[in-house]
Amino acid sequence: MDERQIRHILLLSGGKDSTALAIYMRDHHPEIEMEYVFCDTHKELNETYEYLSRIEAYLGKSITRLSSGLGERGFDHHLRLRRGYLPSPAQRWCTQKLKIEPFEDYIKDDQVCLYVGIRADEHREGYISTKPNITAVYPFKDDGITKSDVLRILDDAGIGLPSYYAWRTRSGCYFCFFQRRIEWVGLMENHPTLFAEAKRYEKPEEGFTWTQSESLNDLGRPERIEQIKREEAVRKMQAAKRRRPKTLAQAFTGDFDDDDEHACLICQL
Ligand code: SF4
Repeated sequence: MDERQIRHILLLSGGKDSTALAIYMRDHHPEIEMEYVFCDTHKELNETYEYLSRIEAYLGKSITRLSSGLGERGFDHHLRLRRGYLPSPAQRWCTQKLKIEPFEDYIKDDQVCLYVGIRADEHREGYISTKPNITAVYPFKDDGITKSDVLRILDDAGIGLPSYYAWRTRSGCYFCFFQRRIEWVGLMENHPTLFAEAKRYEKPEEGFTWTQSESLNDLGRPERIEQIKREEAVRKMQAAKRRRPKTLAQAFTGDFDDDDEHACLICQL
């Protein structure tokens, strides 16, 4: 195959690692004609769109937005087809329908080199697509780039972290079921309307809730919020004892263990 026929694509999630990879590839491999792609579920946070604009400004190149979030391709449509059965870590139909399929439609049968931002200090494998015409490459793994390097790359570029990192450490839909309870509290405090929207999707009487064994209604009770915050403070203290921050950015964000080896790579990198 002629090298020139291969498309080079970097999927941005709106998170720190894929963003840092975009910067890294542009700076270290300017000869690669990279396409930047974002699969928009239309259930993202506004902060994500704002971050994408910042990335575009830095790269001087536009990001192709694959829209999967409206009409027959949208989350609400697929949820209706599943009679309200919410996605979960065991049933990730949202990733398949809202992220992977639009991406596969976009590349068709073209030969694609897909750049994935898994770092050298992670142990995630991660499913992106099984199409044989896609070859995934892992520049951060190959080049020994770790989390502190990623933070430095973002800092040096003047892009920094997405602003939602103040209360949540993952990109993706506002109602993502991978959120920890403290992040649901963050959603409630920072985006009460979106929290209310997420609540409307639940049917606790039928067992359809975003988090296991607890509805958002229960999670949002003042005494429960206090308890979640207390537990989070203890968790952070224990984590800090185990691992001293290596950089100022880590110390500032308290961002020690945001990685979730089970989360979807296409949504959360
Ligand atoms: S971010 Fe979460 S809810 Fe949204 S598509 Fe990905 S896994 Fe599903």
